[in-house]
Amino acid sequence: MNRLVVVSNRVAQPREARAGGLASAMQAALEQCGGLWFGWSGRIVDEADATPRMERAGRIDYALVDLTRSDHDEYYLGFANRTLWPLLHFRPSLLDYHRGDFAGYQRVNAAFARQLAPLLRDDDVVWIHDYHLIPLGAELRALGVGARIGFFLHVPVPPPALLAVLPHHEQLFPKLAAYDLVGLQTWRDRDALLAYFRERDASTGADGNVELPDGRRFEIAAFPIGIDAVKVAEQARKAAGSPATARLVRSLEGRKLVIGVDRLDYSKGLPQRFEAFGRFLARHAAWRARVSFLQIAPPSREQVQEYRDLRSRLERLAGATNGRYAEPDWVPIRYVNRSFTQGTLAGFYRVADIGLVTPLRDGMNLVAKEYVASQPPEDPGVLVLSSFAGAADELAEAIIINPLDPEDIVESLEHALSMPLAERRERWAAMFERVSRNDIAAWRQAFLERLAG
Ligand code: UDP
Repeated sequence: MNRLVVVSNRVAQPREARAGGLASAMQAALEQCGGLWFGWSGRIVDEADATPRMERAGRIDYALVDLTRSDHDEYYLGFANRTLWPLLHFRPSLLDYHRGDFAGYQRVNAAFARQLAPLLRDDDVVWIHDYHLIPLGAELRALGVGARIGFFLHVPVPPPALLAVLPHHEQLFPKLAAYDLVGLQTWRDRDALLAYFRERDASTGADGNVELPDGRRFEIAAFPIGIDAVKVAEQARKAAGSPATARLVRSLEGRKLVIGVDRLDYSKGLPQRFEAFGRFLARHAAWRARVSFLQIAPPSREQVQEYRDLRSRLERLAGATNGRYAEPDWVPIRYVNRSFTQGTLAGFYRVADIGLVTPLRDGMNLVAKEYVASQPPEDPGVLVLSSFAGAADELAEAIIINPLDPEDIVESLEHALSMPLAERRERWAAMFERVSRNDIAAWRQAFLERLAG
């Protein structure tokens, strides 16, 4: 079998607390078959080494590179997270573009290619991940790498008119043609990217084949990412009796529990969620002191101003709702700014009556799938899910809402809290079946089989 080489901005090292979908998905994918994982170590140094640091853990070899301060600021904080992230999440008004950042992004991609190319053999299968590394395939080809190279974009793709808002977009997106296969989360993302190339005179086939005017050919297809459903279900069963879950349950004193778990990111619709929970309590006095909302929101990208602004906004919203409705022995919103292991989260999901997942845009949203996989089959909770999460395609039996309409969230909470057991079971069983079938192994296999051609 050919060796699998995974490349992503951050490498998730063993025992590291993870709070991102990509890291947990790739860890699960590589654990199964072994391979090499190349990416940033997470360290910022004065002078970066010319060759990566090699480490091994279990079946995974790691090749770790460091970034300098200017690499980190321009490539990671700048172009990737201030420019591409808001653009790809349909938020052009938050986009902050600087030519120096774009140059830094291209420089780091070129440096990654120089460090990775010598480690590669032509019979490797190289799988590059996400918006940080769009030009990497083209850089590797320029160095003569002949291996098959696939690319998977974990975030959404907005329509062509929005992609074209990016200054110099024509120097970036056509570089995708260096890959043999470009994978996206949903058919909507695939159609948007195909339309972008069509508007630039490419010819595209129904099967996702693209030929650019200069003759370059590649494929674009949708591969909705999954979770390790068996593992999550097992973790949830085990954690049901753990001290952390027991403490949470005790503290509820018989109240219903609504749970949200998200990186603190403006794409997640957290202010809308907090606002809606406040409205729900305003409207339904009878539910006051009978339901608690636990929002776990580990801070991320705190060096980016929008993330700091969001954090203060959420503190104000949570504080206002808690101040207004709290009782001496009950707080409506339990707002927790730290991360938990997936095992601990599985236990929390299992005892939560409602999983509240309301992103304004999300490539997939793994938390929605993890919530489903964690439920006790005999008495499952209800998933409330934004129609703007990629996961909504597969989880149609959730209560699907538009997060921009607070009333929609309020009604979904009423609906979920009063849903009869038989209906909860029926909806859950259909979702669990799909989450189990389209799991992380199936995703990995589908992508790699198509890449193998
Ligand atoms: N996660 C975690 N600990 C936390 C919060 C989140 O391990 O405290 C994990 C969560 O279980 C999920 C991932 O981080 O696997 C988040 O992925 P998702 O697709 O929901 O969102 P992303 O962060 O990638 O935008």
